[in-house]
Amino acid sequence: MTSKDQHLLVVGSIAFDDLDMPSGAHRNVLGGSATYASLSASLLARDHVRIVGVVGDDFPAAIVAELAARGIDTLGVARSPGQTFRWHGRYSADLASRTTLDTRLNVFAEFSPKIHPSHCSSRFLFLGNIHPALQIDVVNQVPETTLIAADTMNFWIEREPAHLASMLRRIDLLVINDEEARQLAGIHNLVRAAADIRKRGPKALVIKRGEFGALLFDDSGTFFVPAYPLEDVLDPTGAGDSFAGGLMGYLAVRGTASPHALRSAMFFAATLGSFCVEGIGPSRLLEIGRGDLSSRLAAFGKLVDHGGSLSLPG
Ligand code: AMP
Repeated sequence: MTSKDQHLLVVGSIAFDDLDMPSGAHRNVLGGSATYASLSASLLARDHVRIVGVVGDDFPAAIVAELAARGIDTLGVARSPGQTFRWHGRYSADLASRTTLDTRLNVFAEFSPKIHPSHCSSRFLFLGNIHPALQIDVVNQVPETTLIAADTMNFWIEREPAHLASMLRRIDLLVINDEEARQLAGIHNLVRAAADIRKRGPKALVIKRGEFGALLFDDSGTFFVPAYPLEDVLDPTGAGDSFAGGLMGYLAVRGTASPHALRSAMFFAATLGSFCVEGIGPSRLLEIGRGDLSSRLAAFGKLVDHGGSLSLPG
């Protein structure tokens, strides 16, 4: 089914990140869930992506212009007096875990997304990691969707269980990591946790497992995509949002959220996630083009191509 308005509306944080990596410290790096998701989506769905968020008066107009130059509609980027949201994280030596050292909400504390009238017809909606009540507020403003996907995090699972439960009833697809899935369900086994979460609202669930790939659970069954094996991983910040942006960008440009399209979208998502981790902040996403995407997708195809059927021999 082809939808009328194939735009993807991305709502979330726009940030400056301070990143303490094993390789050194990086300050004032462009970040935020909406930034990563929309940059990633725009690589697959140029001119189909709309970003909604808030920045402070310290945020350079040149960055907003850079997003717009990539075909991202920035009409929904509000500017408020004050400082832009800041996040400071430190990664372990193997990059497998990270600690939040500081979160300064700044202008994000008063964020109440008002969707521009020309964006309310968007058929694809990605609700980045913000307060679940705000996610519901956005859903109410975008009435006719093909697919509503959302992310969340431990913070909301612990502190806003009632709002989170209401949000889950309003969405079609939840995209979270394995730790969050276990915490949300209160069940360690991911297959059981997925079944539990899907009973709470979202028909489909994607569980991201970093370098161990990602699982999709929906009415058509369970599907797995590996992470693309890389020699050099520099910075995992934003990989989850880039994964979700790639997934949603692909579906928006296809104009469908069929189970078949979702399975293809998992490969595009993993491809975008793999590029994201190759640079500090969103630097790799900002430098790659369609040629890079095509080559990695081809390599991904080879990675999972077993060359025939898996029927029992003899
Ligand atoms: P990811 O690595 O995919 O979880 O995304 C990292 C991005 O999330 C960073 O660029 C941060 O700016 C942003 N971020 C971190 N904490 C929060 C929060 N509490 N709310 C919204 N965005 C956040």
